[in-house]
Amino acid sequence: MQSPPMRPAWVEINLGQLAENFVIINNDRPPELKFLAIVKDDAYGHGASEIARAALAAGASYLGVVTLNEAIQLRESKIDSPILLFGERSETELACCLEFGLTCNISNRKTALAAAKLAEKKNKKFTFHLEIDTGMNRYGQRWQKALPLVSEIAAMPQFNLEGIFTHFAMSDESDKTYAMLQLQRFNELLFEIEKRNIKVKYRHACNSGGFLDLPMAHFDMVRIGILPLGVYPSKVCRRMAGLQPVMSVKTKIATIRDLESGDKVGYGMRYTAATPRQIAVLPIGYGDGYPRVRNRGTVLVRGKRAPIIGGNAMDATMIDITDIPACKQWDEVVVMGRQGDEEISVHEIAELKGSVSYDILTGWRSRLPRIYC
Ligand SMILES: *Cc1c(COP(=O)(O)O)cnc(C)c1O
Repeated sequence: MQSPPMRPAWVEINLGQLAENFVIINNDRPPELKFLAIVKDDAYGHGASEIARAALAAGASYLGVVTLNEAIQLRESKIDSPILLFGERSETELACCLEFGLTCNISNRKTALAAAKLAEKKNKKFTFHLEIDTGMNRYGQRWQKALPLVSEIAAMPQFNLEGIFTHFAMSDESDKTYAMLQLQRFNELLFEIEKRNIKVKYRHACNSGGFLDLPMAHFDMVRIGILPLGVYPSKVCRRMAGLQPVMSVKTKIATIRDLESGDKVGYGMRYTAATPRQIAVLPIGYGDGYPRVRNRGTVLVRGKRAPIIGGNAMDATMIDITDIPACKQWDEVVVMGRQGDEEISVHEIAELKGSVSYDILTGWRSRLPRIYC
């Protein structure tokens, strides 16, 4: 049987813009500074293998993911570049990591010893990066306690201690005080490590915010996730001319209806027409990842903003098109992205949800087909 026609709501990924964003980043980046492309959570909903391929074509030295499955999926789509797994690995995952040639973050002694034993048994070397917790208190070995572990691990023949890294709790806001404290802690440890003649290929600390705003923390490599996707990690971080979002979300008008004054719209009757109105129904809702809203938010149709009215449903959203009388059934509607001179940014949608851009990007559900163009 032929595959059914696509539903009239979808996510568009502009691979041309993605390549352009990488050119902009490459022109900005000192040539000796390597970069790791973070493609966790399906590259923030953009499609991990597509974004990974573009990143590698643009010169990425590494890919980064969090779950073992994410890494295996990249290997299964024939990507054989170095892959770094962030987070804490359970000992049960280590054999798989070795088999698929994955680099892990190992930052506690118990896991390290288990990995060493396994490497010896398989007669292989375990490549890993050691995370230093300099103040985020998430993963990694606390900075004051890390030196004995680094020394012990560096001396073990089963290991290739390829990297040492830390992660900033806040790199993209104007106040860099805490980031500078974290950097100082990291630098002190690196100094002690160098004094002991322990060499690591990759020292890294920066995410997108750090790459933009903390050049003194670049070290050998930066880890960028959101920036190549054309979205800034914050409102105040440095801007790069030409960088544009890669993802848009679009739908089409499913039906148009006329309201008389006093008519109600949607579940909970959250909207009452004060005057006769014309409204359109969009076949997209909170079940697709749009925030659940009531009389808030706008979309673009015929190059103009149309407000959402009433409460949106799992599968439907109603908009007021009284002021855009040219609207027709199946007109294209932009939920996130550009149309004409107007743009609905991911940040604007994040505000509706009281959340951040990362949450909105990753929140578009898989029931929305991804179209690459
Ligand atoms: C997600 C993540 C990044 C990427 O952050 P962006 O702000 O998207 O650039 C970098 N490093 C680590 C450890 C991460 O978990």
